[in-house]
Amino acid sequence: MDMVYVHVKAPDVKGHDNDPFEKVKAIEMFDQMVGLIAKQLPENVYMALAADHSTPCEIGEHTGEPVPVVISGPSIRRDRILQYNELDCAHGGLGHLTGNEFVRTLHRLMGYVKNKVIRR
Ligand SMILES: [Zn+2]
Repeated sequence: MDMVYVHVKAPDVKGHDNDPFEKVKAIEMFDQMVGLIAKQLPENVYMALAADHSTPCEIGEHTGEPVPVVISGPSIRRDRILQYNELDCAHGGLGHLTGNEFVRTLHRLMGYVKNKVIRR
């Protein structure tokens, strides 16, 4: 199984720099990049998006607020969330996951880790 990992650093850097306008630009460019990639992905490919943390401009440091996550791919049930942002994704089908749970969920949905069957 192949996996490509892309880390976009610009929104974090602009948060540290307290430069909200450049941070917005960086996020808009990220949105465009994801849109272009998503349109060209074959149907059998999974895509996961997550932020590793928040970096609010007014604080200038990493904080622990929940970040939006999404996983799309074959046989994944859709929820009603149409926008990738903190407010909408907080009500999404993945619920609230830790970073570890997010990766485990991604691997399980991809079939990389089998569901554990509990026998009684
Ligand atoms: Zn940082």
